[in-house]
Amino acid sequence: MSPTSLSVVSGSVIARAPSKVNLHLGVGPRRDDGYHDLVTVFQALSLHDDIRVARASDLTIAVRGEWANSVPADSSNLAARAAVALADWAGRPAKVAIDIAKTIPVAGGMAGGSADAAGALVALAQLWKLDISRDELAEIAADLGSDVPFALHGNTALGTGRGEQLMQVLSRGEYHWVLALAREGLSTPAVYRELDRLRESWSGQDLDEDELLRRPDELMQALASGDPHAVAPLLYNDLQPAALSLQPSLRRTLRAGVDAGALNGIVSGSGPTCAFLCADEQSAVNVAAELSGAGVARSVRTASGPAPGTRVLGDG
Ligand code: ATP
Repeated sequence: MSPTSLSVVSGSVIARAPSKVNLHLGVGPRRDDGYHDLVTVFQALSLHDDIRVARASDLTIAVRGEWANSVPADSSNLAARAAVALADWAGRPAKVAIDIAKTIPVAGGMAGGSADAAGALVALAQLWKLDISRDELAEIAADLGSDVPFALHGNTALGTGRGEQLMQVLSRGEYHWVLALAREGLSTPAVYRELDRLRESWSGQDLDEDELLRRPDELMQALASGDPHAVAPLLYNDLQPAALSLQPSLRRTLRAGVDAGALNGIVSGSGPTCAFLCADEQSAVNVAAELSGAGVARSVRTASGPAPGTRVLGDG
């Protein structure tokens, strides 16, 4: 019996939502409204959260797994906000029990909260049998957070605007990653503030907006070639100096991964997770073992990408 038919029997639906790494993250100057325009290439990774939804008499939320204690189990949880937004769209009450099995690190720069929101949207659309298109779901997703549309989409995509405007990127082959999860999370707004502060302190250097927001064509060509050796030197993250400034120990982590044999290492999004691209699966296993022994991270995982977007488990 597939998880989908199982879920019909029990009246619940489970969706699986991927994490992400930004292979390129160009950040424009701070805008007057406080936000920053981005040009980013996302890759969805196999490290995922599972979000189960079931009919209930009220909206409740439960979180399980290693990270449960760091995630709010109330209406501020992004999955709960997603349920309310979708219920509003459908004109029905958000009476649902949401259960999140969390493996994506919290405040880790891997869009874990966004994954849970995407999971809640996809699972509830099925539970409530809504006639909603993928585009309409993506619009609700974008209102919830700029990384939520990509969690729905998955695979590899170019993100512009605040990262919510997506275009599919041709990517061949499978990429093998090692993820070094940090002991302490980093707040995304704090990392952007630190970037603004650093940029102000680099006095005399006018920010060239066109250059900062240039499309990474070379990286996109490398992805189409499917060669991790071509992709590795092109990994780029404007937020990395800010994350390193707030957590200087990440320099050691990045060095340790490359010393262990990774092709390159980068801070994932706003950090502090460090993502190491490896030549192949065996190399990733070796790098993970060596990094674990080096004691530079809370825990070390392997993952592969690109992973599919958020989907109901059991759907072909
Ligand atoms: P991003 O990569 O999109 O910047 P992140 O991965 O660094 O995000 P998240 O794990 O998404 O960060 O969470 C950031 C904060 O959001 C957490 O510290 C937590 O308080 C809050 N939060 C709300 N809902 C969730 C959720 N479902 N999972 C994780 N965090 C959540």
